[in-house]
Amino acid sequence: MLLSRFPRVNFIHAPTPLEELPRLSKHLGGPALLVKRDDCTGLALGGNKARKLEFLIGAATARGADTLLTAGGVQSNHCRQTAAAAAKYGFASELFLTRSVQWNEPTYERTGNVLLDRLTGAKLHFVPRDTDLDQAMARRAEELKKQGKKPFVVPVGGSTPTGALGYVSSAVELVAQANERGLVVDHVVHASGSGGTQAGLIVGLEGANSGVPVIGISVSRPKARLEAEVRALVQGTADSLGLQHRIAADRTIVLDEYIGSAYGQPTPAMIEAVELCARLEGLVLDPVYTGKAMAGLIDLVRKKRFKPTDTVVFIHTGGTPALFAYDSIFDAAP
Ligand SMILES: *Cc1c(COP(=O)(O)O)cnc(C)c1O
Repeated sequence: MLLSRFPRVNFIHAPTPLEELPRLSKHLGGPALLVKRDDCTGLALGGNKARKLEFLIGAATARGADTLLTAGGVQSNHCRQTAAAAAKYGFASELFLTRSVQWNEPTYERTGNVLLDRLTGAKLHFVPRDTDLDQAMARRAEELKKQGKKPFVVPVGGSTPTGALGYVSSAVELVAQANERGLVVDHVVHASGSGGTQAGLIVGLEGANSGVPVIGISVSRPKARLEAEVRALVQGTADSLGLQHRIAADRTIVLDEYIGSAYGQPTPAMIEAVELCARLEGLVLDPVYTGKAMAGLIDLVRKKRFKPTDTVVFIHTGGTPALFAYDSIFDAAP
């Protein structure tokens, strides 16, 4: 797989650390657990979108763009990292932040990711839930063009075959780390939202012929929908790389039983997972993505989905700034 074929900027701190979680493994009586610290990618408090943005900024630059538009929930990590990457590479940025999560804390629209969005100088458009974000961005892009600007629209989550290349690269990095350490990885588990991370991981691990299955824990979309979206992205990404062998549909595994009532709404299992990782490993997760994904991993360990001799790698996809927008849910902690 020749990633160097694609326009790219290089800014992430890589390889991200691959750390053992021995106290968590022991506590759960489960397999060896490791965490790949993609929360430490370096850009404006890190996270998985930075990897995608290396290729998306590359594409925007190649296209001669001067303004990046993107969209997400109010506390979107993707919007925060896009605004930061835009600042770093001299683009203007506009973020469409949809009020998709019912959350009534007074600071929700000021702190966490929103605070960082403002710091980067992004123009913020708060829009009602159920806004068609693609349409809203397309309309704004037309306006900007009339003003002589050159807008580049990054779809929600940066989940395009171009963005997914960032996770092909992450998968290749993980395989190299495992080889260096003589580590056999049996499973990869991570939070799946718009599907680009999972698609990139699947293509990268398949392209490396590693045979490692990827379990995506959905934080928002039902299993059937997200699996279909990931498969389409796997296909698009594999095609753009010119990958010769077909990736079987059953390589895409999504579990949707850890979402709770809705995207961005806390669950008791998420709170347990966030507290457990902090107390046993000093590892900080987030309430919207990695907390729910870790709740899924913990449940799978308890249900004996893995062999005791297995090695499971959890990809920490970031999101920690959102913790501060949810401070009240951890009030019960002693
Ligand atoms: C966006 C995001 C995800 C999901 O990644 P997708 O590529 O959209 O599936 C997971 N974790 C965090 C912290 C995120 O911000």
